[in-house]
Parts: sequence; structure tokens; C-alpha cells
Amino acid sequence: MEAGFVTTTTDYVRREHPDALSALAQSLGACARENVLLSRYSAVGIGGPADLLVVVQNREQILNVIRLTRASGLPWRIFGGLTNLLLPDTGLRGVTIVNHARAVDFSDASYCVKAESGAIVVQMARETVQRGWGGLTWAVGLPGTIGGAVINNAGAFGGDIAGVLKCAEVIVPDGAVQVVDPDWFDFQYRFSRLKGMAATLAGIVPVVVLTTTFRLRPRDGESLQVKAAEYAERRRRTQPPGKTLGSTFKNPPGDYAGRLIEAAGLKGTRCGGMIISEQHANFFMNVDRGTAADYRALIRLAQDEVLQQFGVQLEPEIEIVGEDTCRTK
Ligand SMILES: Cc1cc2nc3c(=O)[nH]c(=O)nc-3n(C[C@H](O)[C@H](O)[C@H](O)COP(=O)(O)OP(=O)(O)OC[C@H]3O[C@@H](n4cnc5c(N)ncnc54)[C@H](O)[C@@H]3O)c2cc1C
Repeated sequence: MEAGFVTTTTDYVRREHPDALSALAQSLGACARENVLLSRYSAVGIGGPADLLVVVQNREQILNVIRLTRASGLPWRIFGGLTNLLLPDTGLRGVTIVNHARAVDFSDASYCVKAESGAIVVQMARETVQRGWGGLTWAVGLPGTIGGAVINNAGAFGGDIAGVLKCAEVIVPDGAVQVVDPDWFDFQYRFSRLKGMAATLAGIVPVVVLTTTFRLRPRDGESLQVKAAEYAERRRRTQPPGKTLGSTFKNPPGDYAGRLIEAAGLKGTRCGGMIISEQHANFFMNVDRGTAADYRALIRLAQDEVLQQFGVQLEPEIEIVGEDTCRTK
């Protein structure tokens, strides 16, 4: 097992840290609450209770909360907009940090944008378009925070984070703060080497993105506005509104996951409160108190049918988080 992580359960937390949760909650004050339903924070409205939920508002608070949490010995995680995570119905043990550190600074002299990692991508991207700065127009409709976008190397319409990131400030496993360049993330299609740390033990690296700096270019403002409107319209036309995590699967080389699921005859298939969208077959929608179990059943069905009918193995783009994996340092 990778150093710094344990397989943990409610029993583990109760046995190893009988008083740690309430002690930590007390020292963190108003930003921490015990036993909070994560479904309220999740874009797809799924997720059981977090033992302790901590909402952080700025860089200094992130540093402070992580320092105290590490000292407590409790397992912990950090999330942004929860737009790409399928959380377990049983919830998460230990400490769940939700990042609302949203400050953004635009430097007119260098066309650089420095953002705290909890900044909302959509707002930041829109502001760059209004200023006539090119490089983030593709992101005007991208849900979630900068931190999540970096971890996933999020992208759309031919652009992605790897193409514009100048550097990032991160907290590395020993607690030190470092400035790293894009190569450090080993970005690939919808992937960085930090992706999946909340979902599996293999390859987990306990790193937190604190701030990011993007280098943009001066462009014709009107053309950027036209492009942004076109991208927003494409999203409106093709993506169903509602409780969803967006694309469930990555597109396989040379094809589209949505096309394959549709061709397999699965549009409109329902499991419990989850349904495969009639509008976009890669979008799985929570239409009536859907659960993680319902979502996982649809994932398995789509994978089995597409493999059987077309010989293509679909890989999840969303992160499927198990109850039993947590950071402990
Ligand atoms: C309707 C819809 C449309 C979408 N369209 C697209 C699209 O076009 N392209 C695309 O790429 N994605 C798309 N997505 C997926 C999602 O929006 C992106 O992946 C987004 O970047 C995730 O950001 P988040 O803040 O919600 O991350 P979360 O879901 O909160 O977290 C994702 C991962 O990042 C980690 N993480 C978050 N913040 C930090 C941090 N500060 N430090 C370290 N780790 C962190 C979490 O631990 C987790 O492992 C879409 C989602 C929806 C719901």
C-alpha cells in the first residue's frame, strides 16, 4: 500500500481517532460541520454523509485546515465543485474539504491570470473573454473549480488546461508549498498524474493545488465573444440540463462514447432514479433520488453492452470514489 494512505472505514476512524473528529471540528470553528450529506454539494445529487465537512474560503485557510487535519491523524480529501465525482451512498469517513477559495487576479501587463484553486472556471473564463484575452474561451461553459480542472486536465472544443497553464502552487506530501510547472503534472487526455487519488489506492499522490497561473494572449475581443457564444450554444443544444456529472466515459480513440452507447440501444435506459439521457447518451441523469448504486449499475450495463456489441472497452471519465480510500497525512 502506498505510504500516506490507509484503507479506512467508519470503524477505523472510531477505533483510531475516537475524539479526533469532534476535537478537530471544535478547533476549526464555523467552517466545519459534522455529519453533512454530500449529495447537497454534488452536481449529480449523490453522496452519503461526510463525517466532517470543512468549507475553506481562501489560500491561507486551506493551509491552516490541512495543517490541523494532518496533525489530527484523520483521513482527509479535498474536492472543488464535485462535478466529476461519484460519491458513495455510505458517505466519506474522516475529513472532506470543499474548496471555495475563489480569488482571481488579472495582470494587464503580462496577460496572466492567477487564481485560487477554488475559483469558478466559468466566471474566470468569461472575464478573460471580456478582456479580449485568448486561451480560455473553450472553458466558458465548464462546470467546477480550477483545482478540479487541473487534476482532470479538463478541456473542450480543442482546448485544455495543459495548453494554458503556466505554473501552479501545490502542497506536496511533506506539507511544503512548491511552485511547479505544467510538465510536473504529466498531463494527458483528461488526465494528470494526480487524477484518481480520491478513487483508488494505486498511484495516489497526496498533493493539493493551491493556486494556478495561466498565460493568455491578446486577441480580438469581438471574435472571442462570438466563439464563446457559439460554444455556449453548442452546450445548450447537445447537453441535457439537470443533475449530472457530464460525460460519464472518455471518448475511445477515433470514436465517441455517447455514439456507442446510443448505438447499443441504451438511450433512455433507467436504473432506480438514474437514467441514460435521451439527448446525450454519455450523460447519466439523476431524475428521482438516484443513488451511487443506480449509477454504477448503469455504468456496468453500458460497458458490457458496448464491449459485447462493438468490442470497445469504455473507460470512466468520472471518478468513482469508494468509501474505503483516504489520505492520512
Ligand atoms: C454538465 C457538465 C459538463 C461537463 N463538461 C466537461 C467538459 O466539457 N470537459 C471536461 O473536461 N469536463 C467536463 N465536465 C466535468 C467537470 O466539470 C470537470 O472535470 C471539472 O474540471 C471538475 O472540477 P471540480 O472542481 O468539480 O472537481 P471535483 O469533481 O470536485 O474533483 C475532481 C478531482 O479533483 C480533485 N481536486 C479538486 N480540487 C483539488 C485541489 N484544489 N487540489 C487537489 N485536488 C483537487 C478531487 O480530489 C478529485 O479527485 C462536465 C461536468 C458537468 C456536470
